[in-house]
Amino acid sequence: MSYQVYINGEYFAKEDAKISVFDHGLLYGDGIFEGMRAYSGKVFRHKEHMDRLWNSARAIALEIPMTKEEMMKAVNDTLELNGLKDAYIRLVVTRGTGNLGLNPFNCSNPGVIIITDKIALYPQSLYENGMEIVTASTIRVPAAALSPRIKSLNYLNNIMAKLEAKCAGCEEALLLNSKGEIAECTGDNIFIIKDNVIYTPPVDAGILEGITRNSVIELARELGYDVQEITRTRYDLYISDECFLTGSAAELIPVVKVDGRPIGDGKVGPVTKTLIEHFRDMIVR
Ligand code: PMP
Repeated sequence: MSYQVYINGEYFAKEDAKISVFDHGLLYGDGIFEGMRAYSGKVFRHKEHMDRLWNSARAIALEIPMTKEEMMKAVNDTLELNGLKDAYIRLVVTRGTGNLGLNPFNCSNPGVIIITDKIALYPQSLYENGMEIVTASTIRVPAAALSPRIKSLNYLNNIMAKLEAKCAGCEEALLLNSKGEIAECTGDNIFIIKDNVIYTPPVDAGILEGITRNSVIELARELGYDVQEITRTRYDLYISDECFLTGSAAELIPVVKVDGRPIGDGKVGPVTKTLIEHFRDMIVR
């Protein structure tokens, strides 16, 4: 069934939703995006997503041609137009149309695109039984080269690691940073649990500061868990009791095997189960 896509204030049927081949979003991956979720008609952490989008824009000197409030309204309008209450939302801001040179200052009119669709989650069995991941040989792009905090349209670093995951028969791969520390997965943040303490890499490890990550840290602390944002290595992961990933699309997904080694007893652990349960309560709040 065809749905309507928002492009620069107008709506187009999915088949007709097109932008110029001269848009630098296409030519150079010059642009930014957000992936958000709506539950029961309400966008989860809408304001936080807007703040991150605007920060990404500032970091690449891109001026978003509307206010945060106007953007939030456009997102809500698009959801409503498509009759969606539980949805995945992809919000893209491209540099706009330019010539074949790199210069972003030759581009005019940043493109704002809002796509709303049904949720494409991992299979339910992975939530129940946990997933297996592998460490990619591709390292996370160092912040000194391009900060992973910018949610840019340049996802080749992540895609290189995703290729490794798929070639290994896995859905996700772990990326280490240039120091060999745990950074994050291709589209998800990572948490590990040892002796009832919850660890997740700090933003300085060179990761995207996930909105779901931040919500889970908040939630776990509310539940009385000790949550530490400190660097971890694969050794810590291999000897951990539990592991799970977080992301807007994935929510919380348990990991039960890494690089062929079972995590804990190889089953979804109690802390992960508790957090998944409470996260579900939180999103319908
Ligand atoms: N890391 C990367 C590289 C991502 O692309 C994403 C989003 N898919 C995440 C982490 C999770 O971020 P969020 O919880 O904001 O979706």
